[in-house]
Amino acid sequence: MESIDLGKRKVNYSLKRSKRKTLGITVNAKGQVIVTAPDYIPMDKIEEVIQKRKNWIIEKVQEKESNLQIQPKRKFLSGESVYLFGRQYYLKVIKSNDYHIEMGHNRITFYVRDLDEAEAKVSEYLGNEFRELIAYKTAECLEVFRDRYSIPVVPEFKIRKMAKRWGSCTKDGVINLNPMLVAASAECIEYVIFHELTHLLHDDHDDEFFRTLKSVCPKYKYLKEKLEKETVLFEE
Ligand SMILES: [Zn+2]
Repeated sequence: MESIDLGKRKVNYSLKRSKRKTLGITVNAKGQVIVTAPDYIPMDKIEEVIQKRKNWIIEKVQEKESNLQIQPKRKFLSGESVYLFGRQYYLKVIKSNDYHIEMGHNRITFYVRDLDEAEAKVSEYLGNEFRELIAYKTAECLEVFRDRYSIPVVPEFKIRKMAKRWGSCTKDGVINLNPMLVAASAECIEYVIFHELTHLLHDDHDDEFFRTLKSVCPKYKYLKEKLEKETVLFEE
């Protein structure tokens, strides 16, 4: 595995040498970058081509990563349950010629062409629901936060799978939210967003941090506990 720094992020890629005449870059479904290059092209030339296409590569990797299965190691079979925004739904998978979803009170029914498709369809559905909620929740929380505090950067929100964290915030204002939060209730998701927004002003979890957090999210202690109770932490 090779590694290259593309400015915004470091990317690992596997290099395959081949007899083909051109250099190709692909990003597979898992977000892994594969570079195929003719034998005679030297490393520095390969890296130059990768750098030239870095925006495309980063965009693709992020897109694939956010489409990754939201709840890993799940097959999503009938009778299992899925958690969506703090509620438990029983899952029903039915074979049908046209793909659609029916939402019941405590049941979600997926009509799929092929039962093997269910896993991907449920993941896709949860992913879309999450993206939709995140889009307006982040805007709402940001507005509340900016009413009280002036922040040094306009944050950019991204959905990114992380092994042990619900959210993270980088120095340049990129706030990552874990797609596993789809199982959490909306108020707990808000808490995570406020927590990360607070990191724009305070790096550490010191008294100042919690004072700021409390001012925008008064129930933060309760919500943190609730989040831990209602979500299962990562199996990865
Ligand atoms: Zn934190």
